[in-house]
Amino acid sequence: MSKIAVIGTGYVGLVTGSCLSDFGLNIVCVDNDNKKIDALHKGSIPIYEPGLEPIVERNVYYKRLGFTTNIKEAVEKCDVLFIAVGTPPADDGSADLQYVEAVARDIARNMNEYKVIVDKSTVPIGTGQRVKAWIKEELDKRGVNYDFDVVSNPEFLREGSAIHDFTHPDRVVIGTESDRAMEMMKKVYSVLYINETPFVETNIETAEMIKYASNAFLALKITYINEVANLCEKVGANAQDVAKAMGRDGRISPKFLHAGPGYGGSCFPKDTLALAEIGKQYHSPVSLIEKTVEANEYQKVLMAKKIENELGSLKGKQLAILGLAFKPNTDDMREAPAITILNELAKMGARFKVYDPIAYKEAKWRLENINDRITYCENEYEAMEDSDALVIITEWNQFRNLDLDRAKQLLKQPNFFDFRNIYKKPMMEKQGFNYFGVGQGIKTQPNMQQNEAMKEVAAEQE
Ligand code: NAD
Repeated sequence: MSKIAVIGTGYVGLVTGSCLSDFGLNIVCVDNDNKKIDALHKGSIPIYEPGLEPIVERNVYYKRLGFTTNIKEAVEKCDVLFIAVGTPPADDGSADLQYVEAVARDIARNMNEYKVIVDKSTVPIGTGQRVKAWIKEELDKRGVNYDFDVVSNPEFLREGSAIHDFTHPDRVVIGTESDRAMEMMKKVYSVLYINETPFVETNIETAEMIKYASNAFLALKITYINEVANLCEKVGANAQDVAKAMGRDGRISPKFLHAGPGYGGSCFPKDTLALAEIGKQYHSPVSLIEKTVEANEYQKVLMAKKIENELGSLKGKQLAILGLAFKPNTDDMREAPAITILNELAKMGARFKVYDPIAYKEAKWRLENINDRITYCENEYEAMEDSDALVIITEWNQFRNLDLDRAKQLLKQPNFFDFRNIYKKPMMEKQGFNYFGVGQGIKTQPNMQQNEAMKEVAAEQE
């Protein structure tokens, strides 16, 4: 049975390592961040990911899962080596491969026999071949000639539902030129293979392209409905009804058709930029994605403008902000829409009382430049007290059931900006709020009960 090292113990690496150990495999998770590995040794999970903790605990207990900073030992002992380090955007938008290169070279410096090197990080097309070249170069420097194969195995998990996504993927993509490596990968994923998960067996370049093409398409879909929603507001239409009816068409599907403040997170923003950049590099522009990036930036700024348009000058005004993480059920704030929206609002003169159930540690440094304008609150209602408006940026479940009477009492003015369309305009107006969603341009609508409306929203979010 293969022994597996996962190098890079972040959102993807830790979930990959833990879930594979839960499949009965022996895994060591490697990271060069001492603090992270120390914390894991003490049983503390460095990220917030629902369901992860008991899996880590269980597999550490059964000694199938371990953690180390010692890459040399991990490389020597394991025959399948996953690379799961970050690939953040460089200044020009292309993916910064310095961490992938560092790991590839480290692997080569410590190789002692045949290894399968599996790239799980999201990387530009052609990176698998570069990984091969970096390894070869280091082996040549050592004057040794071990066999090795490179595999591209992109990851599609979503933070917040990462465990389910990893253990129930829509597909497993494996790109390699080697039959031997392909067989070993099928063994690694044997639990999923037996469960009849579709496997896409292809070459390295195709596997790399599948990841970018998928993420960019989802980002495009979100941006499309956002632009449709903006137009709905102008023409008196309801974007949620439009999306619902569109989604009933099997060719379209209802997923990723939720109008909102623009996409964020650790993947879509950087992957769209990287794909657009690759297109330019090969003189084969992916112009739809270039436009998507532009439109998404505008969408975030538009949310701030929307508030200013309704409230007038924001100088001296206080806003209650609910939700900072880029989406619910994560503490991740990478490229969160809240960062741009709050910065824009701060430029307009606003001050903030914010509440997020989990993201404060991240928020305090990511919003460092405007921290003097922010009060971090204990709960939603503290944030509302004496605020001129309520603004929902992230749809944490607990914001779906706000005590609206209390909210109205606490707010100075009953202004309610719901950038996730959790509530319905007619019902909120009936309750006396000045309510603004995204794309809820409709003035009148058949009388729909709030709980009925919420049921629909929840079902669509699945
Ligand atoms: P992350 O920043 O959470 O984790 C990366 C980890 O790698 C960090 O712990 C860092 O300390 C470690 N690291 C960096 N250099 C190292 C080295 N030389 N040796 C050992 N460890 C090193 O990143 P992430 O969110 O897990 O993303 C990893 C990759 O997976 C990215 O390419 C990303 O695009 C892709 N991806 C992410 C998600 C997601 O939801 N986060 C989903 C699919 C794919």
